[in-house]
Amino acid sequence: MPSYSAPIKDMQFVLHDLLKVSQSDVPGYDDLEADFTAAVIDEAGKLTSEVLAPLNQVGDTQGCRLENGVVRTPDGFKAAFDQVREGGWTGLDMPEEYGGQGMPYVMGTAVGEMFSAANQAFTMYQGLTHGAASAILAHGTEAQKETYLPKMVSCEWTGTMNLTEPHCGTDLGLMRTKAVPQDDGSYKLSGEKIFISAGEHDLADNIVHLVLAKIPGGPDGIKGVSLFIVPKFLVKDDGTLGDRNGVSCGKIEDKMGIHGNATCVMNYDEATGYLLGEEHKGMRAMFTMMNEARIGVGMQGLAQAGIAYQNAVDYAKDRLQGRAVTGPENPDGPADPLIVHPDIRRALLDQKSFVEGARAFMLWGAMLIDRSHRMDDEDADGLISLMTPVIKGFLTDEGFDMTILAQQVYGGHGYIEEWGMSQYARDARIAMIYEGANGIQALDLVGRKLATDNGKHVMAFFDLVKSFIKENEDNEALKADFLDPLKAASKDLQAAGMYFMQHGIKNPNDALSGSYDFMHLFGHVCLGLMWAQMAKAAQEALDAGAGDTAFYETKLATGRYYMARRLPATAMHLARINSGGSTVMALDAEQF
Ligand SMILES: Cc1cc2nc3c(=O)[nH]c(=O)nc-3n(C[C@H](O)[C@H](O)[C@H](O)COP(=O)(O)OP(=O)(O)OC[C@H]3O[C@@H](n4cnc5c(N)ncnc54)[C@H](O)[C@@H]3O)c2cc1C
Repeated sequence: MPSYSAPIKDMQFVLHDLLKVSQSDVPGYDDLEADFTAAVIDEAGKLTSEVLAPLNQVGDTQGCRLENGVVRTPDGFKAAFDQVREGGWTGLDMPEEYGGQGMPYVMGTAVGEMFSAANQAFTMYQGLTHGAASAILAHGTEAQKETYLPKMVSCEWTGTMNLTEPHCGTDLGLMRTKAVPQDDGSYKLSGEKIFISAGEHDLADNIVHLVLAKIPGGPDGIKGVSLFIVPKFLVKDDGTLGDRNGVSCGKIEDKMGIHGNATCVMNYDEATGYLLGEEHKGMRAMFTMMNEARIGVGMQGLAQAGIAYQNAVDYAKDRLQGRAVTGPENPDGPADPLIVHPDIRRALLDQKSFVEGARAFMLWGAMLIDRSHRMDDEDADGLISLMTPVIKGFLTDEGFDMTILAQQVYGGHGYIEEWGMSQYARDARIAMIYEGANGIQALDLVGRKLATDNGKHVMAFFDLVKSFIKENEDNEALKADFLDPLKAASKDLQAAGMYFMQHGIKNPNDALSGSYDFMHLFGHVCLGLMWAQMAKAAQEALDAGAGDTAFYETKLATGRYYMARRLPATAMHLARINSGGSTVMALDAEQF
């Protein structure tokens, strides 16, 4: 039976040694003293490891069932959901005026990783609600906020996002669901949405669907799409629930993973909806939810890798097979534990260095979001917007790879469901697909984000890397192991950017053939930067005589591994990018 233990110490290191949150000028961060964040993380750790993680395999094996139009979630989900709600976890970083706790997003992110690691399928019910509530917060009228937010912040009502239709997923301009205006200002929505996560279930009293649809007579394509609030039960003027709306679940999908989360076909049959934001500006409003969701999905990659790694380490220390090449390390036993073997260590260190680097990257990203939201910091907003496809695409691809590596550590037992490793890989796999498949993230990065504001934000990222290297160039402890590799990787990234500038306009296929490599190249440089900064923080703690020497030394050693063995991937990605699109585009469709 797999288990989960919250990475409390590591999160505290990132928050306090690396990001120094309580010294930051972001409003609300002065509350984030080490004792306070430790208490929050510790409580979340107990809940996730004792309540949510034990339900993970239950959710996987039972899945959700559709019975007479009602979706039943797996045994134990409802009681756990109530416990999460009662603990106030669903509104941790939501505004106090709507019943939230008003904590910064960085805390929501730290806690969110633990929830997602312990039980991704379960956590999606509240995650989607958070995203829908954020869209209402950003684009709703005062009346809409009053009606929906308090119930959604507490998760008495949950939320969904409805974009996908059978014939359109990526290309939403093809959407057919229509919204016909009514005399009272509402709309009647008709159409079919598919693959809707948490579309129907028995965890909440009401479900608030955010639905994209086209108002007849509006502009063609994506410009004619508007966003609507469509509650499962209509809400009366006094806030109580009224009639059932014309929305129902037609089917739940049988799928590869996240079985505990109901993926629904949703039928809208003249359902009453209310415009959210402006007519024909639906994508703008939906992007508030999607950007948040993309970062949340990136975190799922990290989270699944994190829990898979923890279990793989335990297994590698426990399972006895073979002898160390340099002589027995467990001479009294029949064999040595797997962890003595260099190839098992490679697999574990790939995972460890990814998980810890990705955690720092996520929390740094969350801090940028706080700067953007709490200080209207446009530079932070530009940088996180640039980073969003990298967080989503790179962390989910790598996160999935890491769950496979963790499974490999178990040998054949990793393939047997009882051990739980297969579930981590199956659950992690979806994160590469939904919220815009990763190929689309790469397209967004190279086709849009790089050039946004004349490249100002990517230049700001390069400046960040350059100034970190410059400020520390006399630091002998960092130079060879951290700064030199970071410099080389960053040069690869700049060279790739240069290639796109020189070839992208002449032949867009040259740029887009390299977009996926660019996303990974960028991701590695981000993790390289995180590791160099963490190494500096760890070194400073050691120099200052901070207590836990072993922790900081382990941090440095793990960072050295990333820089030496993972970061050189940037050269391979650059070589592929520089080869252009000619080989990619060489075959006619018939030649495949
Ligand atoms: C379990 C699950 C849960 C989901 N939850 C939700 C949800 O809650 N709400 C919701 O609305 N949707 C949801 N989805 C839908 C999901 O977001 C879509 O499946 C996804 O966006 C891809 O759309 P598609 O499946 O139609 O693939 P397609 O759009 O047909 O794309 C197929 C492939 O082609 C690639 N591709 C497409 N266009 C281009 C292009 N121009 N250039 C390069 N490559 C391209 C894509 O990257 C992809 O790999 C969910 C899906 C699943 C499986």
